[in-house]
Amino acid sequence: MYKKNDIVKLEIIDMSFEGLGIAKLFDIDTNRNIVFFVKDALVGDNVEAVITKVNKNVIYTKALNVLKKSQYRVEPKCNVANVCGGCQLLSLDYKKQLELKKELVKNNLLNIGKLNENVLDKANFDIIRMDNPYNFRNKIIVPFGIRNEKIISGYYAGRTHYIIDNNYCVTAFKGHEIIIDIMRKLLKDYNISIYDEITHKGIFRQLMLRKANETNELSITFIINDKNYNKNIEKYMKLAYELFDNFGKKSAELKYNIKISSISININTNANNVLLGRESALLYGNDHIEDTITLNVDSKECSLRFHISDLSFYQTNIIMTKVLYNTVFEFAKIKSYERVLDLYCGIGTMTLFASLFAKDVVGVEVIEKAIENANKNSALNNIKNVHFICRDLDSDLLIDTKDDIMKENFDVLIVDPPRKGLSDTVKKYIISAKPKRIVYVSCDSATLSRDLNEILSATDYNIQKIKVVDMFAHTMHVETVVLLS
Ligand code: SAH
Repeated sequence: MYKKNDIVKLEIIDMSFEGLGIAKLFDIDTNRNIVFFVKDALVGDNVEAVITKVNKNVIYTKALNVLKKSQYRVEPKCNVANVCGGCQLLSLDYKKQLELKKELVKNNLLNIGKLNENVLDKANFDIIRMDNPYNFRNKIIVPFGIRNEKIISGYYAGRTHYIIDNNYCVTAFKGHEIIIDIMRKLLKDYNISIYDEITHKGIFRQLMLRKANETNELSITFIINDKNYNKNIEKYMKLAYELFDNFGKKSAELKYNIKISSISININTNANNVLLGRESALLYGNDHIEDTITLNVDSKECSLRFHISDLSFYQTNIIMTKVLYNTVFEFAKIKSYERVLDLYCGIGTMTLFASLFAKDVVGVEVIEKAIENANKNSALNNIKNVHFICRDLDSDLLIDTKDDIMKENFDVLIVDPPRKGLSDTVKKYIISAKPKRIVYVSCDSATLSRDLNEILSATDYNIQKIKVVDMFAHTMHVETVVLLS
């Protein structure tokens, strides 16, 4: 029997959803294969690993030595690749990453979804890659800390809150490092204390940067633990202005294509891991940035404008978001006389795009603030044929309520649920209302496969198309889009 702290030699044959290596060893006692998850190991490696936890069905380990390096290993472009918890696959060739991700989705569709390979072939199952798997994030939140009396910042080491001191992240938009550097210096000059998670003392927690892809507008948010921020507001404003000024002095606007257009503080006095507080105050510029997203659906271009404030949700990889949405609308083929229902609509980005093709669209989302954003963006674009409803799709409301808009007929249904997948309510709705076409956007192919299996067993829907979109290089995460009709 294996136990904690035992050392084992393992050959890594696959990667898990969390980016851990997977190995199998035959166990004579139980006469079956034991699955090992291996931290810090890549597919193709042979490693020596220490057992960290023994569960009933799997054993967790951590690689101590790589005995034979995988042929897919590449030199990571990041200096802290081996310690930072942000990306797990930076040392793995990008082509191999794509292959693994595609395989992971395929295995879920076959094993959990009970689809057969023919269905996948007919659906042109494939993965869409990023042209450039670097500098793709348009939003980052960087924690600050103190080490050896020096201000540091960077992402946490995997599964810890230990900051890896690093100002440049290879996945973030270019130029973010300039702002971080200036910020480190100004915090010192202004004598602003750095927040300590353990004692819950100190002011400055994280720096949030968000850049609009088309307009290049940048918003900067200081997330601070300062109840009395009103008393200190002049100091924060001065700091904000100096940040703007220093950025200009470095001629960084031109070099990095960045226009600082909003600087604000967000007050977070919670002692938990929630990143943003409810309250924000503007220090410089506008209280939002504006971005434009342009889709190209069946060779037709359409654009919408979005206002993004520091509290509103916005996708973190806009280039691939466009690819994802293009796929959704090419699958949906919405006609001008059709009605569309968009469930789990967030700030209504897809709802608003759908309205450009459809007769009308209804978007449903549980977070009130998101619905507020959705309505604002709808007005900004002068869109009249959408209707947003704030509702919890886990509850039975939608079936029980009389005169409910959900009781109306929709031709096309778009769903984009969180990782746990569709709620029973939504599945019941699909099975009884039977919209002509369903486009399912999923960030977890296991729950997607489970839901597809349930829907296909209870109805006559067929799977027409499936595409996997890589939105997060160097992690195992992907989005999968499926068309049913
Ligand atoms: N379609 C959106 C984002 C989808 S993310 C876009 O493209 O931007 C999933 C969304 O589902 C989130 O906005 C989340 O708030 C919402 N959600 C999660 N659980 C929900 C529930 N029970 N009822 C309604 N919406 C829910």
